[in-house]
Amino acid sequence: MLKVWGHKAEPIMRSTPGCKGSGKCMQGCPNHAKQSMELNYIPMSIANGARLYSSCEVKEVVIKNRRAVGVKGRFASGATFTAHARQAVIMAASAIQTPWLLLKSGVQLKGNGFMCHPGSAMAGLFDKKIVGMPEASQSAQSTYWGKENIKFESLGMPRAFRAARVPGAGKLLESRLEKLDHVAIWGVACKAEARGKVMRSPLGPLVAYSPTDHDRKNILKGLSMMAEAMLQAGAKEVWPSVYGAPEVITSMAEAKRIADLKPGPGIVPMAATHLFCGVNVREKFQVEGIDGLVIADSSFFPSNIGVNPMTAIMTAAQLVAKAWM
Ligand SMILES: Cc1cc2nc3c(=O)[nH]c(=O)nc-3n(C[C@H](O)[C@H](O)[C@H](O)COP(=O)(O)OP(=O)(O)OC[C@H]3O[C@@H](n4cnc5c(N)ncnc54)[C@H](O)[C@@H]3O)c2cc1C
Ligand code: SF4
Repeated sequence: MLKVWGHKAEPIMRSTPGCKGSGKCMQGCPNHAKQSMELNYIPMSIANGARLYSSCEVKEVVIKNRRAVGVKGRFASGATFTAHARQAVIMAASAIQTPWLLLKSGVQLKGNGFMCHPGSAMAGLFDKKIVGMPEASQSAQSTYWGKENIKFESLGMPRAFRAARVPGAGKLLESRLEKLDHVAIWGVACKAEARGKVMRSPLGPLVAYSPTDHDRKNILKGLSMMAEAMLQAGAKEVWPSVYGAPEVITSMAEAKRIADLKPGPGIVPMAATHLFCGVNVREKFQVEGIDGLVIADSSFFPSNIGVNPMTAIMTAAQLVAKAWM
């Protein structure tokens, strides 16, 4: 794929010292190579005097006279706790859990609704063996079409996840699954314009979100480009998983036609792993209207950013820390 796109794609620069290419980045790195928080920010915080309580869920932010004064929660054992804040309560529970906890704690949230990068994936069957060699879960990408709000990324997934992208049933499915090591999967993500909302429900947080037709059109365009690129790279078959497209694509004309499909709801299976917005903040990253209630995650971002957000979120958290030092 990198050869097909030339200068428009590149290997992903990964900060994973000691990576052994075992391709389990999404499940938890067995080699402590992926720089998860337990390897950097958490030990750094503890070394600087933080006390970490694990297996404990914050249930509510305690707010008195429009000031956050602590949190209440419960340990996995069932024991409850209350923590009192000296200066501020800093929330970093993610762009779904943070707004939800605020709502549960009686904070009114206005505007700045939930955004994300919805995306889909496409599989191609190649003569060449694709897996079995050392690999990372995400190792190559193209951000070249960023201005068109489309981003591509290779997905080196474990067999069970990869198998879920194989179409068909019965003997046909069986024969395709036998060739699973020859299946390449790439993802197409979209910097969507749609805004949604995190709400309370009896079962926990509920996200109301629907991509616009424009967003769906972008994803279809990305999938069409991906199918073309896979065929150019030598795929014998491309499996688009798009309602209205053939189950198996073998020609450029079929690949191109994906972009022209009507972008109705539900025609493409989608997922979103980059989540943003939901909370308006003011000076020192405090929630509007409540003193000492501070946000340190992507829920204070004014919009989605179009690229993988981990580094931006970590940088934002550092800015928050500096603001309160
Ligand atoms: C499969 C997958 C792959 C991804 N790959 C990439 C990638 O390659 N590059 C990239 O940049 N980004 C990637 N992302 C996105 C990235 O992981 C997230 O954007 C980022 O982790 C969000 O950071 P956060 O601190 O806002 O939230 P989180 O990382 O979700 O952290 C929130 C923390 O708060 C805790 N929490 C929540 N509620 C409570 C509560 N009530 N009480 C106590 N604790 C609570 C949670 O347990 C969690 O530990 C990926 C995401 C997924 C799901
Ligand atoms: S590929 Fe991912 S899981 Fe495997 S060692 Fe490297 S960082 Fe860890």
